[in-house]
Amino acid sequence: MTQSQVDVVVVGAGFAGLYALYKFRKQGLSVAAFEAAADVGGVWYHNSYPGARCDVESIDYSYSFDEDLQQEWDWSEKYAAQPEIHAYLAHVADRFDLRRDIRFGTRVTAARRDVDDSLWLVDTDAGDSVACTHLVMASGSLSAIKQPDFEGLDGFAGEWYQTSDWPKGGVDFTGKTVGLIGTGSSGIQSIPKIAEAADRLFVFQRTATFTIPARNGPADPEKAAAIKARYPEYRREARQYRIGSPLRSSGRPSTDFTPQERQALLAQEWELGGPSLLGTFSDGGLDKAVNEEVAAFVRARIRETVQDPATADLLSPKDHPIGARRICIDTDYYATYNRDNVTLVDVRSDAIARITPAGVRTESGREYPVDMLVFALGFDAATGALTRIDIRNADGVSVAEKWAQGAPTYLGLMTAGFPNLYIITGPGSPSVLVNMVAAIEHDVDWLADLFGHMRDHGLTRIEANADAEAEWTAHVAELGDRLLLTTASSYYMNSNIPGKARYLIAYPLGLPAYRDHVEKVVADGYRGFALR
Ligand code: FAD
Ligand code: NAP
Repeated sequence: MTQSQVDVVVVGAGFAGLYALYKFRKQGLSVAAFEAAADVGGVWYHNSYPGARCDVESIDYSYSFDEDLQQEWDWSEKYAAQPEIHAYLAHVADRFDLRRDIRFGTRVTAARRDVDDSLWLVDTDAGDSVACTHLVMASGSLSAIKQPDFEGLDGFAGEWYQTSDWPKGGVDFTGKTVGLIGTGSSGIQSIPKIAEAADRLFVFQRTATFTIPARNGPADPEKAAAIKARYPEYRREARQYRIGSPLRSSGRPSTDFTPQERQALLAQEWELGGPSLLGTFSDGGLDKAVNEEVAAFVRARIRETVQDPATADLLSPKDHPIGARRICIDTDYYATYNRDNVTLVDVRSDAIARITPAGVRTESGREYPVDMLVFALGFDAATGALTRIDIRNADGVSVAEKWAQGAPTYLGLMTAGFPNLYIITGPGSPSVLVNMVAAIEHDVDWLADLFGHMRDHGLTRIEANADAEAEWTAHVAELGDRLLLTTASSYYMNSNIPGKARYLIAYPLGLPAYRDHVEKVVADGYRGFALR
């Protein structure tokens, strides 16, 4: 048990926590970081399932804050796999000597204000109690796991695993019949790999997902050299894209093209691969008919790829616009269903009733005997990491209580009533809708500027004003209402967690618009914040 006081406590040691620790320490602040896992990496520590890799190109899904780092690090593939991203983050931790200020294997359980309401008192499950001026939640938008709550799981005779908490020694699927539940990005990446390794694979699908071939491969050394020759300028340009890294787009509405030209553009995008397909036309996320044309194009590719027409039909999403749920990029996903050892089970028409000792039983009474279960069920996104900690303000109100029916924030960075509590990529920031490393660097830089400003002006306390928060939260909701994004059920709208209120968890207009807004707030003397 330790008792101490620091300027800043950082919760989490993923992309956000590591950069926050580096940046604040460089400012001369004393920092203590806590990480529940045994090592750095965050998402890239926990999600070590077969097939895990990024869906933003690695040359972009990486830190820009240190020129030597970005010059010296070489990515082996266009979309690096989890072990390489984890190795990169471990390298960053060692290179900048970050580990000495991180307590690993230590979960922050509670935070409350001291008697003067001037410090946060942070408690951990290891018995630490640390006082700090600033409490920075780098605890992740996609880190609070949606746990499997299937009846009967306790009595399952085989082994079961979660993609989001994969065992570090790996899993041997040889000779096994495996059942996998969940067909979001995690399922889509792991299914082809598990199918190769296992004797037999049953995929239990409730909602079909649109996925585009990644066309991954070895990194192109010429492209990397050209970018490295002007990396800072390249990063500045990249930050002007809506997602904070380059996306191809005609930049024009679909009406600028004939139907034949539109099909040719989509076919070209399909061949190039990656997440740009939806952005082929500037109105793909706004106009139902345009969106449907893109969706129909993808469904036709599914029918071309998957030999069994009934399976192809089941794999074809029909209940939501393309892009309204996270668009996935894959390697051999649809083709995997042509394998003799893979069976797709539709658990929308015949839901999972329970797990039996021998496998999975559906409502109709059908049994699927399996030796192993893999859950790829997703996350309690955006708010889960914070609401699972008992964070209470001077009035005794917790963040979980305040956020019971929504997650009001000001700019996604702070929530009113909780002075000096900051959220990196919080709800109401662009967060899960953009390249998150770019979003993280933005937020940490903003915080470092704020801390510098406070120090220079003898300020110790900052709080978001309730009216500024209400205005921002309404603004995010209003923007969402104009987009097809909010018409689907997904974790973007919290619909994946029973009982969670439905609202859009992220600012939907992208990083440049968000950054401009935040810059204006600062230029106006931190408009909407009370500093003293
Ligand atoms: P995390 O990496 O989630 O780190 C948060 C850390 O905080 C975790 O290690 C957790 O253990 C720790 N923590 C949480 N609560 C506590 C507590 N109470 N006490 C102590 N420690 C705590 N985004 C993209 O832009 N591109 C991608 O290609 C991409 N791929 C992804 C792939 C997967 C499998 C997943 C799950 C997400 C992916 N994301 C991607 C989103 C990803 O969340 C971000 O890109 C980024 O890694 C988030 O970093 P972070 O540091 O904010 O959070
Ligand atoms: P997800 O997108 O939320 O998908 C979860 C899946 O589990 C859905 O198919 C869901 O079906 C299913 N599911 C949940 N509960 C179920 C139940 N009780 N019965 C049957 N099915 C159930 O989660 P994810 O795949 O982990 O991805 C989350 C996010 O992490 C992604 O959107 C992305 O941002 C990030 N990620 C990125 C990558 C990458 O490519 N780099 C990889 C993994 C994750 P329903 O939709 O019907 O609820």
